[in-house]
Amino acid sequence: MGLSEGAEIFIGSIVEKCVSIIIPCYNEEEVIRTTLDRLTAFCSSQPDYAFELLFVDDGSSDRTPALLRQAAVDDARVRVLYFARNFGHQIAVTAGIDASTGDAVVLIDADLQDPPEVIAGMLEKWRDGYDVVYATRISRPGESAFKLFTARAFYRVLNRLSEVPIPLDTGDFRLMSRPVVEVLKNMPERHRFVRGMVSWVGFRQIALPYERAERFAGTSKYPLRKMLRFATDGILSFSVKPLQVSIAMGLISALFAMIGIIYALGLRMFTATWVEGWTALMIAVLFLGGVQLLSLGIIGEYIGRIYTEVKQRPLYIVRETIGFSENGAAEHSAACPTSATARTRK
Ligand code: UDP
Ligand code: MG
Repeated sequence: MGLSEGAEIFIGSIVEKCVSIIIPCYNEEEVIRTTLDRLTAFCSSQPDYAFELLFVDDGSSDRTPALLRQAAVDDARVRVLYFARNFGHQIAVTAGIDASTGDAVVLIDADLQDPPEVIAGMLEKWRDGYDVVYATRISRPGESAFKLFTARAFYRVLNRLSEVPIPLDTGDFRLMSRPVVEVLKNMPERHRFVRGMVSWVGFRQIALPYERAERFAGTSKYPLRKMLRFATDGILSFSVKPLQVSIAMGLISALFAMIGIIYALGLRMFTATWVEGWTALMIAVLFLGGVQLLSLGIIGEYIGRIYTEVKQRPLYIVRETIGFSENGAAEHSAACPTSATARTRK
């Protein structure tokens, strides 16, 4: 009996699972230290798993790069990718996914709005056999009424439009198993809406409700302009319904135009007061012009996307790495030991 117990412990330590935690950072000097402390404390509370903490510096202009350099010196689990410029949150997350080596990958924000302790629940669900565990916000303190309202509306509209159901009130805070990560790595699209892409992949997915915290320090790196781009990416990447809407509008306006034409012809032929159609004429011209411009705009958005796709530029440029050897694999033993990684994604 003693022998079999020993064997079990031995096997247990051999098959220790490795989890990559990906943290995109853009000018987060105020929070980095605390985030690291919380993350390392969390890792220590999970003796059954090995961790790699993969930071992606998204072209920060403050002290974030230097703080991450120090973090990598202090803790062998820390690996860092430095982008050549700011590429945006979704691309930073993508680079982390590409470079990760763990059996599971967790995406988390740097500002502690997603409490690291929630990952424990994700790991449990992963152990139960789920491939994607996405954290769903029960509450969102510290956000403006405007952000709350627009986010709520956005997820509902998106779900009406998208052919893949995308979970409501869910950010990128989630765990994904290696098979899902491998599929994501093979999705080369440029306008990335990661949470939608993960839903599209399928596999066994489950929600994990949590209370979202307030931003620990610093300000949101998502101004309204970035939020609008992000929302547009979400809708246009997951739906062609806007094109159908423009067709429907075209049809409806054509119908009205037909009625108008018959009416105008009738006036011209059977009455003497046919000059008096000016108001109707203006309305028809303006209405049709508006509908046409809108439809052109929608088509233009899609064509613009086709243009960025065909250019085939790399998705991001890494200027420096810490914790990766020359061939891109994890450098030190503490990081997950397998799999080579691409520096510049084609
Ligand atoms: N972020 C990034 N690049 C950007 C903007 C944001 O890597 O261009 C990171 C940011 O450092 C944070 C995460 O994305 O870790 C979420 O950003 P933020 O908390 O500012 O967004 P919010 O929670 O306000 O939506
Ligand atoms: Mg935040």
